[in-house]
Amino acid sequence: MPIITDHGLIINKIPYGESDLLITFYTLSRGKMTGIGKGAKRSKKRFSGRLELFSLVRFTGFAKPGISLPRIDECELLDPYQEIQYQPQAFFSGCYFLEIINRCCPEYQANRQIFALLTELFGFLTTPAGRNFTCQIRLFELQIIALLGFAPLLDYCLGCRNKANQNMLFFDPEAGGLICQSCHHRYPQAFPISRGTIAILNKFLQIDSNLRKKLNFTPQIMDETAKLCRSLLRWHTGQEFKSLKYIDNIDLFGQKTVIKPTDSLSKQFNRMS
Ligand SMILES: [Zn+2]
Repeated sequence: MPIITDHGLIINKIPYGESDLLITFYTLSRGKMTGIGKGAKRSKKRFSGRLELFSLVRFTGFAKPGISLPRIDECELLDPYQEIQYQPQAFFSGCYFLEIINRCCPEYQANRQIFALLTELFGFLTTPAGRNFTCQIRLFELQIIALLGFAPLLDYCLGCRNKANQNMLFFDPEAGGLICQSCHHRYPQAFPISRGTIAILNKFLQIDSNLRKKLNFTPQIMDETAKLCRSLLRWHTGQEFKSLKYIDNIDLFGQKTVIKPTDSLSKQFNRMS
C-alpha cells in the first residue's frame, strides 16, 4: 500500500458524513490534492484539533491504486496562521487566493514556487496592518497570475503587433494583452489602461522582494491592476470569485461588511454563493 507523507497548506475542507472531512491541500511535493480525513472532525489526537483554512500541516496517509481519493490518517499542525481567522480583511483576501488555487491549479502538478508564495502570503496576512496592505495584495496577485502562466503580454498591440507606445491603450483579457486605439473596435471587451500601470506591470517581476515590500501604488495603478488581474482570472475560470464580494465591501480603515459576532468568518464565507 503506497504510503504518502507531505507538507501541505489547507486550501479547502468540506464535511463528509458525520465525522469525516474532504481536505484539499496545496502540497510541497504533489501540488494540489484532495484526501478524505477519516474521523477528522472528531479526532484531536490524529488531526491536531480543528483544521482551519490556511494551516500548514505535515500529513500522512495512503493512496490505494484504483481508488482516486487518498485516505489521510494523520495531520500534524506546523503553523495555523491563526491570526488570519480574526481579521476580516486578511481572511477574505486569503480566501480570494484559496479560490484562485482551487480553481486554477490542476491536481498533482507540483510547483514549489506557488507553495513558497502561499506561505509568504499567509505570513503577510497574519500581520497586515500598516504594510501597504492593498498594494502588497496586488503584488501577490500579479505573482500568482505569472506562476499560473496567465501573465499578460504588455510590449505590443496584440491586434496589429505594433509597439505599444501610444498614450491611449486598452487591455483585453481574452487576448491576454494590450490593444491599441486603432484596433480597439475589434476587441469590445478591452478596457482602458494607463501607461503608468503598464510600466509597473512590466517591471514588477524584476523587482527584488525586499524592494517589493516597500512599494506603494497610486490609487489609479491599484484600481487598474485589480481590474486587469480579476478580468484575466474571470476569463480563465469562467467564474466570478465569491470572496471578492466581501473584499470590495471592506475598506482599509473600517469594515463595511457586516460580520455577525456569533459566526466564524469561515462559516459566513461558506454560506455565500
Ligand atoms: Zn493595434
